[in-house]
This record gives sequence, structure tokens and C-alpha cells, in this order.
Amino acid sequence: MKVMFLGTGTSVGVPVIGCDCRVCTSADVRNRRRRTSLYVEAAGTHLVIDTPPDFREQVLQFKVPRVDAVLFTHAHADHVLGFDDIRRFNTIQKGVIPAFGSPATVADLKRIFDYIGLDETSGMFRPRIDFREVAGPFEVGSIRIEPLPVVHDPKPTLGYRIDAQGRSLGFVPDCHVMPDETLARLKGVDVMILDALRHRPHKTHLTVEESLGLLKRIGARRSYLIHLCHELEHEETEKAVPEGVDVSYDGLTLDW
Ligand SMILES: [Zn+2]
Ligand SMILES: [Zn+2]
Ligand SMILES: [Zn+2]
Repeated sequence: MKVMFLGTGTSVGVPVIGCDCRVCTSADVRNRRRRTSLYVEAAGTHLVIDTPPDFREQVLQFKVPRVDAVLFTHAHADHVLGFDDIRRFNTIQKGVIPAFGSPATVADLKRIFDYIGLDETSGMFRPRIDFREVAGPFEVGSIRIEPLPVVHDPKPTLGYRIDAQGRSLGFVPDCHVMPDETLARLKGVDVMILDALRHRPHKTHLTVEESLGLLKRIGARRSYLIHLCHELEHEETEKAVPEGVDVSYDGLTLDW
């Protein structure tokens, strides 16, 4: 399984507009965080999870070659506003691309991108998307995908467990509370990627400390913190987290 972090930042990105703090002005490129998105390749199938406002730049910089399906965690602006750029993959791949999400997320996507599905005579017929509402496990190619509910804001939010060829991955970028049933489904994955906004408490996200507590219970072989804000300096945070946990950064690639 190959995973590439296309973006690792919180909703406003890092640097933050108008901020001259040490992280926002850092020369370390790992402190430059676009909005959160993940590319996964396994068994010849290519997925992206979430399409942030930075999606076009991310695809260009990190050379995403193909998108066989898009998975959505939820419909907040920082996870969906680059969705229109999927149309290039319609053109390249000469086909419709499925997009998966909870019924509430699919409804929001159809509202925000209300031109999707218009017929070709309108001149506004891309992206060409086959929306799929998910409530339980499904497959794309030979990848098995399990949507896992988490508490983030009042609307439903999903994390995902992805299994292919004996490899497993958990991805939960936006989460305030993880239900026990979701935690049980993530236990023992090879790689776990989890929300860790900052040290101070937040109403819709996990703090670094809360995230580390959950990661310990999940017990993945490798764990990565994601959806970070400008209060976390990369190197400093990396040194402070325990063995087996790393701070993700844009462009980080895992292959196992
Ligand atoms: Zn987010
Ligand atoms: Zn800053
Ligand atoms: Zn969110």
C-alpha cells in the first residue's frame, strides 16, 4: 500500500493569512501545511480522500497520476472545495468517477456543486461523478473500505479503514470524540493517521494529548498526527511525541 500526504494542515492552512508567528514564517517546508487530503494506491487502484481548496496545487506538486474514486470524510469547506478539479481526471481517464460519503455529505456536495449531473448540452457537464451514499463497508477495485463514524461537529463525519493485499490503514482527520465501536474497528491497523489540532482544547478536534491517548489504544505499527494548526512547530512536536508516532507533513510518502 502506498500513501501520500497531499495536505496535513487545519482548515485555514499554514501559514495562516496575516500571521507572522514562528511557524507561519518558518523556513522549514514541513511547517507549510496545505489543507488535509490523502492519496492511497493499492492493488492497482488509486484513491483520494477529500478534495481541499488546495487540491489542484497538491495534485500538480505531488503528481497524483490517477483517481479511481474519491472518498469524503465530511463536507466542511477545507475538505471539499477543490472537488471541481476532479474533472481533469474525467478527461484523462475518459470516464465517470465515483464519490463516496455519508448521505448528509453527499447531499451537501450536490447542493454546493449543483451543476454536477447536468446533461452535456449544457456545456457544464464536468466533473462527471457517480455519487454513492455509504453506510457500511464497500469495495473499489480490490480495496476494501469501511466508513467509520466519529464525532466532529453536529453533522455526521466519517473516518475510513482501508484494507488491501493484507495491508491496513486507518484515516481519521477530523474528530473530537471517537466512539468505542470505531476505535474497535481501527485496532491493530498497520498505519493510523489521526487528528491532532493543537495542545489547547478545541470543541470539534482532538488535542495532541487526546490523539496520543487514542493512538495508544489503537496500537497501530506506525501512527501519524494530521490536521495540525500553526501552534505546532514540526521539529519540536516530532521530538516530543513517543516512539512509533510521527508528525505528518505535506508530501510525506509511506510504502509498505
Ligand atoms: Zn478539516
Ligand atoms: Zn502563525
Ligand atoms: Zn471538519
